[in-house]
Amino acid sequence: MENLLDLHSHSSFSPDAKDGAELMCERAKELGLSAYALTDHCDCNFWLPADEWERENARALTVDREMYGVRDYARASIKTVSALKEKYPFLLCGIELGQPLQNPVAAAEICAMRELDLIIGSHHMNAGRDDFYWLDYGSMDIGEIYALMSDYFTQICEMCTRADFDVLGHLTYPLRYITGECGIELDMSRFYEQIREIFRRLIGRGKGIEINTSGLRQRYGRLLPDREYVKLYRECGGEILTLGSDAHCAADIAKGIDEGAELARECGFKYTAYFERREARFMSL
Ligand SMILES: [Zn+2]
Ligand SMILES: [Zn+2]
Repeated sequence: MENLLDLHSHSSFSPDAKDGAELMCERAKELGLSAYALTDHCDCNFWLPADEWERENARALTVDREMYGVRDYARASIKTVSALKEKYPFLLCGIELGQPLQNPVAAAEICAMRELDLIIGSHHMNAGRDDFYWLDYGSMDIGEIYALMSDYFTQICEMCTRADFDVLGHLTYPLRYITGECGIELDMSRFYEQIREIFRRLIGRGKGIEINTSGLRQRYGRLLPDREYVKLYRECGGEILTLGSDAHCAADIAKGIDEGAELARECGFKYTAYFERREARFMSL
């Protein structure tokens, strides 16, 4: 792709990433990216102060205590990244807002930050459950896994109806673990109607989806979402499509973006989107 861009990445303001924001920007500069977004994690359900959090939400969740700091990390990331824009003109200030409906107060506080160029709306865990990363699929029967997936799409549909964000992050995220790590193949066609409804709602509200290339670097080996879903999005009239590596270290920035762009073209997209102050702009593919 001529105008290389990467709209999804994490710096050390994310509890699961290690390289500092400036180092990430240096790598993006070295690669010659024309648009590059840092989008650190803000999982809204981990927002409360520790004592309150334990009372309200902890239940059976096995969450790293570092996540308690999510509010501070998210705000610090936005402030730092927006300050770095002066030095790196291609830089966009984003956030990956997880589970906004599980804590609307937290989501509203972040969405009100005017520095933001882009908000990726993500769903990493169903309400009351752990992140899909942590679930033990080996101990579930296939019916439970299908029920989990159905809840996943239902909750995303709700998010696409009510939450404030710009693009839907890594649709089909649980397949990274269910299929990629555990080798369990699912008949995803039984969810196509739910997925179409998600796309209709997104499109109706002027929002888009991303092609997240992280799956290519993992055992799953596929894009998130992959061809059948991107085609479905296009058929539904989808036009806003971003490309993101979901890099959690500088070395992974822009990895897989060419494959993502290729898939987008094959599915009929002529443009990829990026965002400035939450307005979509387009670049030819
Ligand atoms: Zn994510
Ligand atoms: Zn991410």
